[in-house]
Amino acid sequence: MTHPFLDLAPLTAARFAAIERRVAGLLSTEQDVVVMQGEALLPLEGCIRGGARPGSTALNIVTGPYGQTFGNWLRDCGAEVVDLAVPFHSAVTAEQVRQALTEHPEIDFVSLVHAEAATGNTNPVAEIGEAVRAHGALFMVDAVASVGAEPLLVDAWGVDLCVIGAQKAMGGPAGVSAVSVSARAWERMAANPRAPRQSYLSLLDWKARWIDGGRKALPHAPAQLEMLALDACLERIEADGLDTVMARHASAAAATRAGATALGGGLEPYVHDARDAAPVATTLRTPAGVDAAELVAHALAADPSLPLIAGGGALSKEMIRVNHYGMDATRDAVLSSLAALGAALADAGRDTDTEAARKAVVETWPIS
Ligand SMILES: *Cc1c(COP(=O)(O)O)cnc(C)c1O
Repeated sequence: MTHPFLDLAPLTAARFAAIERRVAGLLSTEQDVVVMQGEALLPLEGCIRGGARPGSTALNIVTGPYGQTFGNWLRDCGAEVVDLAVPFHSAVTAEQVRQALTEHPEIDFVSLVHAEAATGNTNPVAEIGEAVRAHGALFMVDAVASVGAEPLLVDAWGVDLCVIGAQKAMGGPAGVSAVSVSARAWERMAANPRAPRQSYLSLLDWKARWIDGGRKALPHAPAQLEMLALDACLERIEADGLDTVMARHASAAAATRAGATALGGGLEPYVHDARDAAPVATTLRTPAGVDAAELVAHALAADPSLPLIAGGGALSKEMIRVNHYGMDATRDAVLSSLAALGAALADAGRDTDTEAARKAVVETWPIS
């Protein structure tokens, strides 16, 4: 018996290359784009292991848990690492980056997370890119949580390695991901004897076996279902219009922030300044004495389909995330999420005003 997930015609090299061109369009880049056959951690680790080596010095900007992971990989590659960490409730500034680069002129690699879904903050990549370019270092950006939610202009911002995944604002699959690679980044990796080769982590393998051959023959059997899902999600974003999709995420974040503040009960935006808040997910701080994981479990018991999750690790006690991923970036999802949190807070004995929250959401995000 045939099945819609099975018995598919093989995914051709031409189709694979067309999907890569579509991703390049989404990133506003003329650089090479490689669609990697694994979750976004694959190109992220591939970029770091390709770009860093003993003798190199990396500036690792830490604004959340992913930045911490990058620091560990960079050290594992033998690079000297300068960590620039800021509190998770804020964003790094271009001035802080400039200062670090001035203090450590030997820095030749900079890693930055654009938006952190795990903490709900977003960083000013355009301004930071200017500082990094002026210094001459290679600039790697993790844009998994920003792509589709906020502007991402790879070439204009001078990003040498930009990694995306489709599972957040793009509303697509998690099993494949993509990276754009500048000519400078290819040169750096080619000159790095420690860069992965003949390895699943190797970007250079894809260059040698796929790009340099004119994208005529795929080096391995592609993750066919995930590639079809990625293509479908790119097509949907193009049909809706990227600006419309980003505007939905921005509105969802602004409305959640306003609604949570109006809800009361001690709930507060986790990211202090609205300018630093990521459109992809809004993080909220629970009042002292209210465990965020318990509150979320209570809210989800009433409606398991709500895009709510407690913060990871130690943050699970004090942080709630309202995810505005793709199709969850709707006013209805915001309204029901806040209503559920209000009810859960009320059950925990807190004073909340669900009606005020509803009003604030509707005023912030009017829909005709
Ligand atoms: C979500 C995300 C990733 C991908 O990780 P998963 O948790 O496996 O989806 C990578 N980087 C950032 C900044 C992210 O927010």
